[in-house]
Amino acid sequence: MSVKVYVPSPWRNLTGGKARVEVAANDIAGLLGSMEALYPGFMSHVVDETGEVFHHVNIFVNQELISHSQGLHTTLQDGEEVAFVPALAGGNSAYLGAEKEPASRGRETIDLNALKAGGFIMQRQGNFFSLRLKVPVGNITGEQLMKVADVAQRYGKGHVHLTMRQGIEIPFIRLDDFNAVTGELAIVGLGLGACGARVRVVTACQGTAICPHALGDTHSLAGKLDERLYGRWGLPHKFKMGVTGCPNACAKPQENDLGFMAVVEPVFDESGGHECIACGLCVDLCPGKAIQLVDGKPVIDRGRCFHDARCIMHCPTGSWRARREGWNAYVGGKWGRQPQLGVLFAEFLSEEQAVDLAERTLAAYCRLANKGERLGSLINRLGLATFKGAVYHEQPCP
Ligand code: SF4
Ligand code: SF4
Repeated sequence: MSVKVYVPSPWRNLTGGKARVEVAANDIAGLLGSMEALYPGFMSHVVDETGEVFHHVNIFVNQELISHSQGLHTTLQDGEEVAFVPALAGGNSAYLGAEKEPASRGRETIDLNALKAGGFIMQRQGNFFSLRLKVPVGNITGEQLMKVADVAQRYGKGHVHLTMRQGIEIPFIRLDDFNAVTGELAIVGLGLGACGARVRVVTACQGTAICPHALGDTHSLAGKLDERLYGRWGLPHKFKMGVTGCPNACAKPQENDLGFMAVVEPVFDESGGHECIACGLCVDLCPGKAIQLVDGKPVIDRGRCFHDARCIMHCPTGSWRARREGWNAYVGGKWGRQPQLGVLFAEFLSEEQAVDLAERTLAAYCRLANKGERLGSLINRLGLATFKGAVYHEQPCP
């Protein structure tokens, strides 16, 4: 039997970052053996040395807890979905890397910081939590939306909150329902969002998938950043990334600790039969007023160019073409009490270079920043040139 397995984010270092994998197994015990063979170390997250499933790990088959069925002997049918969902409460905060002491409430010990870091945020009402979902690049399927609505109706108060960073929160969830809710959401591929001092979900605009102005595939870059870096913990403070598909900057890359913007550098080139007819369209459409017609030919002032490629897109004779294209990187942006915009850090990076830069930037930030210091504050303290030197000497994260 081939079944789909949902792997929770803290265990994905074993599966090369994959949230879902397929394995052959006839029952849960067999599935654990297959997972261990393919991803050594997997079993140690699930069962203790006596072979008993840890109390803090819930295993669902098609949304049904195996503890309500045949336990490890629960049989599997072809195409069924198995989700492993580690609980966050009850003293297993090490799983999330929480550093503060657990808080006590009644007879139960609850690590509120661990819950919050894992996307389960205590409300001001005390006994309710707002469940933050991970919605990478702001894309969510109809099936997932229906499940979110269903969960909000059955476990919450029937509404959701759309966050500032393309996420969804389901408020008014009770702690007792945490495992059931996260298990149901996991079945449709929805995990929990990160909070606290972690790498947060990567935001992005629609990019070349949808937007006519776009110059870069935002979904591809944001997806790779998310796959490589999302959820990393033990940081000095939060770390946010945003990816935007053109200089219109709809995804606000300069508000992020690290932001990327797709850009194109134009060059006037009449070779190959692309002779300019001096229509002046590029002059009129250029938002930076960077082009002038001089003796019937366009001349560009590069200092005024936004790199949005309008001249290239609209020239009727194809006399403008791209000389360089890629991603500009901005570092040090943040909002909050002391807002500041990110500054230009690198230009015309390939997608691979952008991901590499993100890994190095995060590594340098973790090494150099004081606890509680955002990347922008670190750069203010060190100076951009010093920080840049540190980034380029940094090894990418393992
Ligand atoms: S890329 Fe945009 S801003 Fe630059 S010259 Fe062309 S139209 Fe003007
Ligand atoms: S839009 Fe093209 S053809 Fe018209 S002036 Fe500019 S370069 Fe020349």
